[in-house]
Amino acid sequence: MNSSEEMFALYQQVSSQKAHLQAIFKSLKELIWFKDINGVYLTCNPMFERFVGELEADIVGKTDEVIQTRDNTEFLNVLKHYTSDNKHAHVREEWLQCGSDGKRYLLEISMTPVHDASQLIGVLGLGRDITEKRLAENRITNLAYFDTLTGLPNRTLVRERIEQAMQASTQDHSFGALLLIDLDHFKMLNDTLGHEMGDRLLKQVARRLTPCVRQSDTVARIGGDEFVVVLTHLSKDKNEANAQAKEIGLNILACLNQPYVINELAHRSTPSIGATMFQGHQADLDNLLKQAELAMYKTKEGGRNNLLFFDPSLENAVMERVQMEADLRLALLGKQFLLHYQAQTDENGGIKGCEVLLRWQHPQRGFIAPVDFIPVAEATRLILPIGEWVLEQACTQLAAWSREPELAHLTLSVNVSALQFLQRDFFDQVVSVLTLTGASPHRLKLELTESLLVANVEEIIAKMHLLKAQGIGLSLDDFGTGYSSLTYLKRMPLEQLKIDRSFVNDMLTSANDASIVNTIISLSKNMGLRVIAEGVENEAQRNFLNQAGCPEYQGYFYSKPLPLDQFLAFARPAPAMA
Ligand code: C2E
Ligand code: MG
Ligand code: MG
Repeated sequence: MNSSEEMFALYQQVSSQKAHLQAIFKSLKELIWFKDINGVYLTCNPMFERFVGELEADIVGKTDEVIQTRDNTEFLNVLKHYTSDNKHAHVREEWLQCGSDGKRYLLEISMTPVHDASQLIGVLGLGRDITEKRLAENRITNLAYFDTLTGLPNRTLVRERIEQAMQASTQDHSFGALLLIDLDHFKMLNDTLGHEMGDRLLKQVARRLTPCVRQSDTVARIGGDEFVVVLTHLSKDKNEANAQAKEIGLNILACLNQPYVINELAHRSTPSIGATMFQGHQADLDNLLKQAELAMYKTKEGGRNNLLFFDPSLENAVMERVQMEADLRLALLGKQFLLHYQAQTDENGGIKGCEVLLRWQHPQRGFIAPVDFIPVAEATRLILPIGEWVLEQACTQLAAWSREPELAHLTLSVNVSALQFLQRDFFDQVVSVLTLTGASPHRLKLELTESLLVANVEEIIAKMHLLKAQGIGLSLDDFGTGYSSLTYLKRMPLEQLKIDRSFVNDMLTSANDASIVNTIISLSKNMGLRVIAEGVENEAQRNFLNQAGCPEYQGYFYSKPLPLDQFLAFARPAPAMA
């Protein structure tokens, strides 16, 4: 080959390499550009053209200031990185940049200095669109750290925040506080109105909580209807810090007590709040959460809708409760429940019927009173199988009595927990127990309480009508202690009101209680309902009630709740003297 042929071959080789390089340069998905040391574009690839919305020919020779909104001084600052002793420095940045399509993109930019033999001649820029990737990452972080329903931090994030709060408290010795907020009767709302309504309430609660705390505090949702508030940087003085936490807690209580509007209907919901204070790392995180939980349970037990602070004595109480829950699970299987029967009499002392009252004979602890175990049975939903058992036993008795002429007239009142009544199949359950035992529905009375009316009153009233249509009597227990509105009272197909024993107990010494008793009696008369007073312990009380117009009584004055055989001995008419 002569030299011109060699030159031509070399030329062909070089230009084919150049063509290859250009093809690569053009097909890259990244934005690529090359600028001289003044920030003037020397070249760029088609991706870059597309992003900027101009052709290479219009870009070359210009700086960022001319073609985009970026400031050229930014570029000149970048150049400072490429000092002679830092020749191969790489600058990586993220730019939020508007594309020619008007959309905002997140670009990952890397800028590499290009040198010839002796000096820096320009900077090669490479930009990758990481918008989607970052959005996906954020979505994952959100899922991991935030509650999807309310957008609040979740359990994982709040644990981190508590840890940080403890750290901050260690450094500046300020106190912090943890508030655990649980919505009262939320399960019932969810069960009766549906999950969608429940979700709406939770969102509204979340929205109300955030303005109740300061910027530095955290509001989180850690599960179903449980929220946590972390208060930081309270006073260094314990009492003062306590007062600050209490003030915020009470404000939260008041805010969450305001009526809610869900689906254009006003709805009431209240919270039970448990709080605990912390300073530094004196208690560990799990312990703190447990303390707040104990205080919250205490609030529930004390009648809900309140704020209580943890104190160490609660721990014993809770150990007992945990034990009781475990024991209660075994009680039905172990046949540890029995029923006592308490007479209900008329004006002349004649026994019209009785109320069946549950008793728990614990193998180690002996007799446990219903007030101590029914709330636990309700909280654990064990009241459902227990209540079913009570109903079966009661109806079995009714059926047996119906076959004895001297007992056949007796009615039997059974207490029904709100949770039990709200079960979808409650009506079917009652009907099937009546059918299986052969008891007469006309002798069965169900004692309901006003706590039933927490939600979905329409459905509840409809269920009452179904029961009434079967001939079953409905009695409203502990009347006067709840807050049923007169409108509801009028619409419920009740047969009877039971005056709560607290009023009976105090009516002879308190004018207020006496007037409540009188009001309930005249209310029942006006509404065509029967009325019975419970907790009648002496003749004076019986006489007062009788004069006020209450003709039926239940109480120790006549008989205590008795085991079946003793009750029957009491209820059977005495044999005629020979
Ligand atoms: P309650 O339905 O209001 O029952 C009346 C309570 O008053 C009974 O308490 C009864 O022993 C008591 N009592 C009756 N007469 C007098 C009296 O003259 N003086 C005093 N001081 N007390 C009197 P008990 O048996 O301890 O039951 C407490 C509550 O436990 C009941 O109140 C009821 O709400 C609940 N309970 C009892 N048995 C059952 C049951 O089978 N199912 C459900 N869900 N709850 C039940
Ligand atoms: Mg009762
Ligand atoms: Mg009662």
